Amino acid sequence: MSSLSVNSSLIKDSAYINGLWCQAESGRTIKVFNPATGDLLGQVPDMGPAETLTAIEAAHSALTHWRAVTPKARGQLLRRWFDLIIEHQDDLAQLMTLEQGKPLFETRGEVLYGASYVEWYAEEGKRAYGKIFAASSSDKRALSIQQPIGVVAAITPWNFPNAMITRKIAPALAAGCTVVVKPSEETPFSALALMALAEQAGIPVGVINMITSSQAVEVGAVLTQDSRVRKLSFTGSTRVGKLLYSQSADTVKKLSLELGGNAPFIIFDDADLDAAVAGAVIAKFRNAGQTCVCANRILVQDGIHDEFVARFKAAVEQLIVGNGLAPSTTLGPVINQAAIDKITSLVRRAQAQGAQVISGGQTHNAGPLFFSPTILTQVSQQMEIAQQEIFGPVAPIIRFKDEAEALAMANDTPYGLAAYFYTESHSRIWRFAEALEFGMVGINESILSNEIAPFGGVKESGQGREGSSLGLDDYMETKYLCMGGIR
Ligand code: ADP
Repeated sequence: MSSLSVNSSLIKDSAYINGLWCQAESGRTIKVFNPATGDLLGQVPDMGPAETLTAIEAAHSALTHWRAVTPKARGQLLRRWFDLIIEHQDDLAQLMTLEQGKPLFETRGEVLYGASYVEWYAEEGKRAYGKIFAASSSDKRALSIQQPIGVVAAITPWNFPNAMITRKIAPALAAGCTVVVKPSEETPFSALALMALAEQAGIPVGVINMITSSQAVEVGAVLTQDSRVRKLSFTGSTRVGKLLYSQSADTVKKLSLELGGNAPFIIFDDADLDAAVAGAVIAKFRNAGQTCVCANRILVQDGIHDEFVARFKAAVEQLIVGNGLAPSTTLGPVINQAAIDKITSLVRRAQAQGAQVISGGQTHNAGPLFFSPTILTQVSQQMEIAQQEIFGPVAPIIRFKDEAEALAMANDTPYGLAAYFYTESHSRIWRFAEALEFGMVGINESILSNEIAPFGGVKESGQGREGSSLGLDDYMETKYLCMGGIR
């Protein structure tokens, strides 16, 4: 990779298996492009089933040793990895902007956010406690211990090339599991740079293995069919998540699935409008709308609808579209041409159904993968754009009359990841938060996720939680010990 001032020790064009940096047996590679410029950034190995099996083998052999390392010693290694990530945060952020496109202020934020999971689980691994239960008879005692699940497969997406990896690997390692990771083929360099730092931190051979591949179907089949892999942790689309769920049935793997969303962002008449406008801009346009917790539908109550739309439009028009490496940029490109095509067709079909474009509405002259920040009004909950995950910088605004209608609209989706609402009513906060069918609810707040809190969805948005002590539990099994013959 010919790139800028990124520390060369972090630019890896090989995958990492059993402590070795290696190429694909076939010699094939995947080309990685910068979405802002179309430039070729470099190539990484295009591995397949054979290398996946080698990686599983390595993780399986390393497990015996790693699960016996004390939680404190595992934590010290994770802490060293955290320190190295922090030391190289600028390099990691630049690399991520180059291959993923989002502006530097966001990639810097993601590197710190991703690192926070490593720091948190370096500490939290020591707090995996068992339990002793009240005895059922005088000659027996009942207790449970927590043990690592075993080898974990992690499949991660391109929208958070760093944090979706650390959010899985850090709790897995803290719990005593070993890992095979397949990052997205769109953003392998950020993933491999994390491996380079894990190696420098002294994480033992075989504990983390990373394969890069464009053969996701074949690699996914091997990871799900192999009975040595005891858990699959996946972040990505609902379509692929469902496929992996069914593929995991044969070996009855534990699953963590963090899938798509259709987040409603609801603003009641009594909301603090300044806070709601600022929150909506962040919830909609961060990462160019390409996060699973991005506001997908903005629901605004009648009484403040027009005022909100005017202020929101003014705020959206302040966004600066461009190459994420420019310090002033606040909105970068989307990931690829397929994303542009999908966003464009969703907007066109919404227009055909009566939605009005009041801002943006088409690609932006910054380049072929840039879409102008777009606002649609007169959208209805029945329109396709309100039912599908947009994953782009398009804000559909839907009007509602009262709380009951807002709730019915909000829950009218098979997804259940994040929801947001703005109100100053104390009673409504409890009533409405409890009635929303979502795994996470932002109340007068548009940024939900951090390492101390349980991130995850309900309904077709997935299962399992990442972050917090619950995130550690998801990599551990409970074993019940029944002790008898006590006199
Ligand atoms: P996105 O829309 O975010 O790209 P995907 O679900 O397509 O979501 O991709 C998320 C991750 O899943 C990526 O690493 C991708 O390579 C991988 N993936 C895609 N299809 C499959 C599959 N059939 N089996 C296993 N992994 C897959």
